[in-house]
Amino acid sequence: MTSTQDQSPDQSPDHAPTFPFDNSYARLPDRFFTRTRPTAVAAPRLIRLNENLARELRLDPVSLTSLAGIAILAGNTVALGSEPIATAYAGHQFGGFNPSLGDGRAILLGEVVDAHGIRRDIQLKGSGPTHYSRRGDGRAALGPVLREYILSEAFASLGVPSTRALAAVSTGEVVLRERALPGAVLTRVAQSHIRVGTFQYFAARSDVDAVRALADHVIARHYPEAAAAPNPYLAMLDGVIARQSALIARWMNIGFIHGVMNTDNMAICGETIDFGPCAFVDHYEPDKVFSSIDERGRYALSNQPAIGLWNLSRLAEALLPLLADDKAVAITSAEVSLGAYVRRYEEAYLAGLRQKLGLVEPHADDPALAQDLLDAMAAAGADFTQTFRRLAELATDTSASEKLDDLRKLFGDTTAIDLWISRWLARIAQEASTPEARAAIMRRSNPAFIPRNHLVAEAIAEAVENDDFRAFERLLQVLSRPYDDQPESARYALPPTPDQVVRATFCGT
Ligand code: AMP
Ligand code: MG
Repeated sequence: MTSTQDQSPDQSPDHAPTFPFDNSYARLPDRFFTRTRPTAVAAPRLIRLNENLARELRLDPVSLTSLAGIAILAGNTVALGSEPIATAYAGHQFGGFNPSLGDGRAILLGEVVDAHGIRRDIQLKGSGPTHYSRRGDGRAALGPVLREYILSEAFASLGVPSTRALAAVSTGEVVLRERALPGAVLTRVAQSHIRVGTFQYFAARSDVDAVRALADHVIARHYPEAAAAPNPYLAMLDGVIARQSALIARWMNIGFIHGVMNTDNMAICGETIDFGPCAFVDHYEPDKVFSSIDERGRYALSNQPAIGLWNLSRLAEALLPLLADDKAVAITSAEVSLGAYVRRYEEAYLAGLRQKLGLVEPHADDPALAQDLLDAMAAAGADFTQTFRRLAELATDTSASEKLDDLRKLFGDTTAIDLWISRWLARIAQEASTPEARAAIMRRSNPAFIPRNHLVAEAIAEAVENDDFRAFERLLQVLSRPYDDQPESARYALPPTPDQVVRATFCGT
């Protein structure tokens, strides 16, 4: 169970939490990072500790909620065994290269090996200035911290690879953005925070030794099977391509728009990272953009698969000196690897769509069937998540007129959807699977509950304006079981009313 903690000090056991840190990144060469301690904040208060995740990380939730624990999560004290660092990276931001980004408002406390034997970074985000802050204050506002908490935990429950939120702490300080806002610190957990941009940082400096040291670290940590391959660095590139093509296919299957797919926001480990101006589509619009800073739609929903390839091409470029001694040979190898991306993506995307449609046996015309549904949704402005969920509800009882009407109601003019439903019924009639098995697959591929923008906005507004975290807690609770029917929470499954629609999301830095 996770819970809000606002314990008075005398109830809190005040033993400092111990972290079984083993900080492999801090053992890399000095030019990979800058040693930086978090900056203390005025009045730390725990908003929420993710107790399940704490246990998964082999941390004691009780001591994390003690005053000593909260002090660590706020950056006011540095835990024993922590070697705090801000890491260096570069990145293409909206296509333009910046050779010097780095953790401007994040500090890696260290790494722990979790209960499954997986190494995980524990990072504070919003913990004060670092060597890489440039003109920024190194801080985070409460709203974006809650947004990242909600989104990353929703992803985990949806089964989509993502960084996680271990804790959120308010600072008792204000941060100055368009206006003064309450400040907060997020404790973020990732398999690692190494990005495409981390490789680019060293490649841009022609520091091949560093690119190699980083690649060796990545292979040992994330792609151990690559070590035994004839060309380990090429195998590592293939591994990243495999994980990212699968990840972006998952995003497309749930209607998620990342919003800022800069190369510094693409994680080498294959987790979704940096929930900034991101959003889920409500009514399906393939070219939807939410981010107010994405004026040209570079990171529009339908553009994400292509941008994934663009980013991976920048990774391949950074790796060229490792791929072969001869540059022409290296380029050819990289091109072959990148050439597999589209096929991998299409396969993963189609496999996801098949599950969403309850199709177990592949047929050649499945892509057209799926695309025609998407086209009907786009033409009618039908809600993406609801359409698929209602289709899932039809799976066991295809003749239920009430359920059929629930689906048809999402479309204004029902001509196209009626035609499509008759094709789908004919198609599933050819399947050997039972309706029950089909319904089960569809229900676990088509969530009822996603972190819809208006719900996230509502939870944030209550917290920021009224210091009331009940809506945040309630939303987290609903989103922890996205595939279950929760009749008591029916309103969380609904698309926004016209006055609830969130038109744009902001970077929120
Ligand atoms: P993001 O848009 O969050 O992916 O951040 C892009 C870059 O800007 C990264 O190098 C961040 O560390 C940096 N950055 C974002 N916000 C701040 C801030 N408030 N203070 C310092 N650096 C920041
Ligand atoms: Mg970022």
